Amino acid sequence: MGFELTEEQRLIKDNFRAFLEKEIVPLVDDYERERRTLGKDIIKKLDEFRFAAALVSEDAGGVDLDFQSYCVMVEELSRAWPSLRTLATTSAMMCSLIASRGTAEQREKCLPGLLAMDEIGCFALTEPNVGSDASSVETKAVRSGDHYLLSGTKTLITGGSMADVAVVYARVSGGDGAGGVSAFLVRQDESPFETRDIAKMGMHCAPLAELVFDECAVPAANRLGEEGGGLKMALHGLNSGRVNVAFAALGLGQAALDASISYARDREQFGKPIASFQLVQQMIVEMSLKVDIARLLAMRAAEMVNKKVECRREASYAKLYATEAMVEVTNTAIQVHGGYGYTSEFAVERYYRDLRHLTMAEGTTQVQTLIIGREILGVSAFV
Ligand SMILES: Cc1cc2nc3c(=O)[nH]c(=O)nc-3n(C[C@H](O)[C@H](O)[C@H](O)COP(=O)(O)OP(=O)(O)OC[C@H]3O[C@@H](n4cnc5c(N)ncnc54)[C@H](O)[C@@H]3O)c2cc1C
Repeated sequence: MGFELTEEQRLIKDNFRAFLEKEIVPLVDDYERERRTLGKDIIKKLDEFRFAAALVSEDAGGVDLDFQSYCVMVEELSRAWPSLRTLATTSAMMCSLIASRGTAEQREKCLPGLLAMDEIGCFALTEPNVGSDASSVETKAVRSGDHYLLSGTKTLITGGSMADVAVVYARVSGGDGAGGVSAFLVRQDESPFETRDIAKMGMHCAPLAELVFDECAVPAANRLGEEGGGLKMALHGLNSGRVNVAFAALGLGQAALDASISYARDREQFGKPIASFQLVQQMIVEMSLKVDIARLLAMRAAEMVNKKVECRREASYAKLYATEAMVEVTNTAIQVHGGYGYTSEFAVERYYRDLRHLTMAEGTTQVQTLIIGREILGVSAFV
């Protein structure tokens, strides 16, 4: 297993970073300070790197990039602007899902706009009473002729109020447990649904929304996969989703580390740069060590995903460690910056706020722990 990026991956990293520095980074401060939702015109800029098409096969109109290269881009995007990262990766994941699981008609209907980043997607699984236990979905889908009528509420949905197309998980009447849940492609322009934005701690430029479906008529042809096969399909993509989150965390951890090194060298107290104090060095060394360990775990898991090797344990290690350790890293970055670290004059307070939700996304830390426990012990503590 290689721990270093290949020459091609290094090139992608450098070129993508240079592009982000020029096109995206200059926008971030104003948007974040004003808590302004970033527009689709900004998301569209990423199409210069075919971001949404990265993991889609060429025959479906994609680029067929290897998974590690995609992860390198996710890290850079997260380093530049996490709000943009979360909207763009959600759309990219949706492109992969539709390309691999959709019918020819579904591909034709939804892929061109999503692949070109003219449209964006969202995944609607979580509900007011349904979180870690995804098998308890309450949203209903009742068959009515050549349509399904969807009724229920989804919540905490990234990009929900901006999305042109949502993958909505709903229980078809009569189906119990995980096997009763189906996935539907719901287009706003075809099957309109109500949305309401939810205020939150960070990621202020990417809306988080509640979606309300009130007998929303969705063509039966929009059911993705088999009836009752929705959760199985969602679980199939979990390893790559978790590794994706690990790289998103890394992007912010690396940014916090870089900012802290630079600040510690510049800031003087007691007539010396604070970098010369042993206790400040200890904070920087511990941050750096955590970033390095997280990177190694994430790289290993990414390589396994790329090789299509079973990696439930490795993906959960990578996700759990990177997200929890980067919470500590971004928190310590505030300490290195002293009182200024708490102000909006420096980016580190935003890094902490933007990072914090990643210990919940794609399965909480506790759920990752139970998955790893099950892998090690062969006994499930939760399902
Ligand atoms: C910013 C953000 C973006 C999100 N985006 C999306 C999205 O796009 N689409 C979507 O569908 N969802 C999304 N979510 C929702 C996210 O997936 C859920 O928050 C997550 O699955 C946890 O569910 P919950 O919040 O209901 O917590 P709960 O499941 O209610 O858990 C509460 C606490 O109990 C713990 N817990 C639960 N069960 C167990 C157990 N068996 N053993 C030990 N501890 C347990 C959890 O770890 C947690 O600490 C998003 C959330 C956030 C914060």
